[in-house]
Amino acid sequence: MMPELDPWGSSDIEDYAKLFDEFGIQPFEEILGSIENPHMLMRRKIVFGHRDLERVLDAKRKGERFALVSGMMPSGKMHFGHKMVVDQLMWWQDLGTPLYIPIASVEAYGVREKSLDEVERLGIEEYLVNYIALGLRPDNCTVYFQEKRRAVDTLALLFSRRVTFNELRAIYGELSPAKIVSALVQVGDILHPQLQEYEGPCPVVVPVGADQDPHIRLTRDIASRASSEFGFQPCAATYHRFNSGLDGGKMSSSKPSSYIALTETLKDARYKLMNAFTGGRDTLKEQKELGGRPDICTVYELMKLHLEPDDAKLENTFRTCAAGELMCGDCKKCAWDLLERFLVEHQEKREKARDRIEEYLVKE
Ligand code: SF4
Repeated sequence: MMPELDPWGSSDIEDYAKLFDEFGIQPFEEILGSIENPHMLMRRKIVFGHRDLERVLDAKRKGERFALVSGMMPSGKMHFGHKMVVDQLMWWQDLGTPLYIPIASVEAYGVREKSLDEVERLGIEEYLVNYIALGLRPDNCTVYFQEKRRAVDTLALLFSRRVTFNELRAIYGELSPAKIVSALVQVGDILHPQLQEYEGPCPVVVPVGADQDPHIRLTRDIASRASSEFGFQPCAATYHRFNSGLDGGKMSSSKPSSYIALTETLKDARYKLMNAFTGGRDTLKEQKELGGRPDICTVYELMKLHLEPDDAKLENTFRTCAAGELMCGDCKKCAWDLLERFLVEHQEKREKARDRIEEYLVKE
């Protein structure tokens, strides 16, 4: 049977709670209370699960070393669905966490069949520039292309002996040589901060969308098998829900109508927002009588995940929508005011970010 989670395809997860039983992911709410000033996405239960995060939090409490790895996939435009990871990175950076950020060039070349020139252009122009504009700081932050980081590639080669083809098939399902190589390079990405020349053995957290769990499981298995030789600890992870597509389906880079890119023109962004799937009723009369359905509304979701940082205001939107006091036209106008301000400011910051790439990107 094919696994439900495909890191290279489109995993559509209807019931996140099932992942607790099927894959052993732990509910995030069990540890939420022990986190000081949790990130907005944690408070709002968008980060829903974790593996071994206690070890990372414990290291932080004791003043011991810990680190974070978070890859970016340079295969298309960076949109609001990708932004969720960057928002979390800055929270971790504020805790003093060293950040390791691979640009997944080996995977983009091998699995997504991009040329290396295209990978480099997308990695810098579409991703790194956006990361910097969103507020990522250069201190304690290393960004690198996978094929240029020798320590990562060496670990990937060595670890090929620590896993069997049948195990890979059980974790990933359908495989190709390019997928096997890119999976092992990801293991190298996640474990290499524990080499002595970087942080040394320590807890490393990887914040991911739920579909990336196969990479986390493989890395944890390999780390355990290689621990006597390398001293590596299995990685920890946090898992966030997917941002729904604006059409109510899955947000997908191959479907521009489903997302708003961070470089979207104001005209296109406004058109997409105004035509987004909402939880509104067919008529104003019905909306007043029955109330709207913010729980299935993509405009509300955009506010919850990205645009409205004030919990009280967000709650008020939910309440007045459900009570039939708020109409979709007015609500979309408020959302557009927030989105327009964000895009104008972000796109101005992008211009300045271009001059700062060298502060982040290492050559090896
Ligand atoms: Fe969505 Fe706002 Fe309409 Fe409610 S009022 S369904 S939150 S757009």
